[in-house]
Amino acid sequence: MTEELFRDDATLACCEATVLAVEADGGIVLDRTVFYPQGGGQAGDAGELLAADGRRFAIADTRKHPEQPGVIVHRPAEGTDLSALVPGQRVMASIDLVRRQAHRRFHSATHLLCALVPQPVDGCSITAGYARLDFHMTEPLDKDALNAGLARLVAEAHPVRTRWIAEAELDANPQLVRSMSVQPPRGQGRVRLVEIDGVDLQPCGGTHVANTAEIGPVIVTKIEKKSARTRRVVLGFAEPAAGRG
Ligand SMILES: [Zn+2]
Repeated sequence: MTEELFRDDATLACCEATVLAVEADGGIVLDRTVFYPQGGGQAGDAGELLAADGRRFAIADTRKHPEQPGVIVHRPAEGTDLSALVPGQRVMASIDLVRRQAHRRFHSATHLLCALVPQPVDGCSITAGYARLDFHMTEPLDKDALNAGLARLVAEAHPVRTRWIAEAELDANPQLVRSMSVQPPRGQGRVRLVEIDGVDLQPCGGTHVANTAEIGPVIVTKIEKKSARTRRVVLGFAEPAAGRG
């Protein structure tokens, strides 16, 4: 198991860690990490591992281990020489903060969209350049109304919190399930909830902003009729992401 530091603090930029394994395909396993692995629609983190001797190992992407549940694999950038990286070695693991901040802003914005469009979601993708959400619905969506709704919820500066609850607690509070826009996955004993105060509550493992004001100017760039029963909403930044640091 990899200790997932990003679950309880999405603002952590780096951590010290110990290399547990360098896999045959180059994937690097650490005992703990701040790198979010691709999942729940959100892209994986990029960044670098810094060894004590100053060597840097660029990480292009992060994934869940295909065979070992709970293990996170850091994928090196193409051409990275890993020969100096060995199990037992201490490294400083640092994420690309610009990319992470884009993921945080877009991911929280997709939850605002869930509140504005109370329809089942059947697809989701969150990257550093755009986010898209597929709603299972047949009615058309109004781009201007969605943009006005997003701008209002961002301006209202709602706090965003995460908490873990036991499945038993969820079962004992049926009103909690009713207020959720997405049904929680079952079978792991506990569920992580993301609550946007007064706006949205849903099970989610992703990295979020701490307050909707942090989302900034995010707008609907496109609404597509993907199929007879699917409406796709694409979000973009109203300004270059890099400009916000
Ligand atoms: Zn989410």
